[in-house]
This record gives sequence, structure tokens and C-alpha cells, in this order.
Amino acid sequence: MAVPKRKVSPSRRGMRRSHDSLKVEAFHECPNCGELKRPHNICGHCGHYNGRQVVAVG
Ligand SMILES: [Zn+2]
Repeated sequence: MAVPKRKVSPSRRGMRRSHDSLKVEAFHECPNCGELKRPHNICGHCGHYNGRQVVAVG
């Protein structure tokens, strides 16, 4: 069985994991209903985008 030649030091392991964290999702208030929505996405609450109804809700 293959065995690593050198143990990864705590410092190197930490440097590798520095890119592993999950990013906080961006959220913005919907101008129509005030619900939080993602930028450049249709509001999941009222179906509005760019000031008009795009998807029928309810
Ligand atoms: Zn909305």
C-alpha cells in the first residue's frame, strides 16, 4: 500500500484548508415585497424581477 513520504505539517494543512471555507451567500431585499432574495435572481416570494411580475405565484 502506498504511504505518504512526509507528514503534512499543521501549517501546510492549514494553508491548504484556507480555501475550504464556505462563502456567505449574498442577499438583497426585494424592492416589491421586501423579502430577502439573491441578486440577479427572481424573487422566490413574489415572483418579481426588475420591477415586473415574471413568474405567477400562488
Ligand atoms: Zn419579492
